[in-house]
Formats: sequence, C-alpha cells, structure tokens
Amino acid sequence: MMYGLLIVWYIFIGLGVSLGTHRLISHNSFQSNSVLKYLLVYAGTPAGPPIQWALNHRIHHKTTDTADDPHSPYFGGFWHAHCGWYLPTSSTIVAILYAIAGPIRTLLDPFIWKGFPEELPKDLDAPLLKLMSRRPVNFLLALSHLLPFYFFYVELGWFGIALSWLITVLFYNIGDSINSVSHLVGSREDPNTEARNFLPSAMLTMGEGNHAEHHRTPGNANFGGFDIGYLFLRIMRLIRMVK
Ligand SMILES: [Zn+2]
Ligand SMILES: [Zn+2]
Repeated sequence: MMYGLLIVWYIFIGLGVSLGTHRLISHNSFQSNSVLKYLLVYAGTPAGPPIQWALNHRIHHKTTDTADDPHSPYFGGFWHAHCGWYLPTSSTIVAILYAIAGPIRTLLDPFIWKGFPEELPKDLDAPLLKLMSRRPVNFLLALSHLLPFYFFYVELGWFGIALSWLITVLFYNIGDSINSVSHLVGSREDPNTEARNFLPSAMLTMGEGNHAEHHRTPGNANFGGFDIGYLFLRIMRLIRMVK
C-alpha cells in the first residue's frame, strides 16, 4: 500500500510538471477546464514557480543549444545544464549536492527563482497563476508537496523518511535529465538542435523524453511515441475536462 502511494506521488508530480507547467502554461498546447488546469499547475509546483518556469522555458526553445540557452550541456557542461543553472553555479560539487537535496530543494526552490516581471505575455497574465508564482504562496504550495514525508514517517519510521527522500531525488533528477541527458543521448530529429528522443527517458517522464519531437513541434500536446502524459490528456478529453 505505502509503496503504491510512492508511485502515485511520483506520477502526480510528473503529470503536473509535464502537462501543467510545461505543455499547458509554457506552450498552450491544449485547452483545459480551469479546475484541471490549476490542479495540474499545483501538482507541478516542485518544478518551481509556474510563470518563471514558463518564461525561462520559452527562452530555452528560442535559444536551444546556443550560448544564450539557460541550460545547454554544450555551454557550461552537464551538471550546469542538469541543475547547476538554477542556483546558478558552475561548481560540479555544488550541483551534485543540489541534485541529492530532495526535500531541501523543494523548500529552497521558491527562494532561488527570481520574481516575475510586471509586464507579462497575455497568456501568463492571469491572477491565480500570478498568485501561485509569488514567493510566499509558492513556498506554501511546495511545502504541501512534502506532506507524504509525514505519512511515511508515521507508517515506516526513518525508513519511510529515507524512501520519501529517495523518491524526491528521483523525480528531481529524472525531470532535470530533460535539460541535460535529453540534449545528449538518443536520436535527433532536427539537425538544428541537439534535442533527442530516448525511450527509457520518455517512459519515466510522462513522455517528456521524446524531446527531439517536442523541439520540432513545441505547440503540439502529443510528444509522440511512448507518451503517458498525452494518454492522460486523451482520457481527460473523453470526460470533457480538456478540449
Ligand atoms: Zn530542450
Ligand atoms: Zn517545451
């Protein structure tokens, strides 16, 4: 039962980041019922404040694998692209410590991201999205994502804490691997970018690992191949939560 909950926790955050923060907020690649939209954005909170995430991600698409890309493994190295860029740091040791920081990172992230500008693109200029992206609120939302630590501690003691820590380290690093590994390992589709499709990554990231396909058609909600995120969207479409 408890182990099943670990998987549910992982999938909840994974779908939140991939569908909410990435495909919906950053790319407007589908239209959602507001309840589902903000539930997905909430689920994706551990990735960082949604508006800042989206603005940064749009720069990544415009500048992919150039010196202006906020996180390219070809400029600054693997660990900078993986998670060093958040801090930012070019120190491999500091980046590795951050990579294994798990829940500490969940609490630090809202303070590491800068605020968002007052002038926002129209699609991001929404009151609830702005509220969820502001530091104190973003911190409380992130904190609520650590509630499973309490339940696992009550049920399994310190082993439960260790398991919870492990799952947070996994979801951060598997997510971060899209910026590092997915620009290094796998098959390319477009000679203009280093983005790659890599099946094991797609299986672990709700489809995000089909990264070459995503860079080729950023506005398409379907990342092709093995894409659990898109499968979820198709189910949501059946019950009319998504257009
Ligand atoms: Zn990319
Ligand atoms: Zn994208």
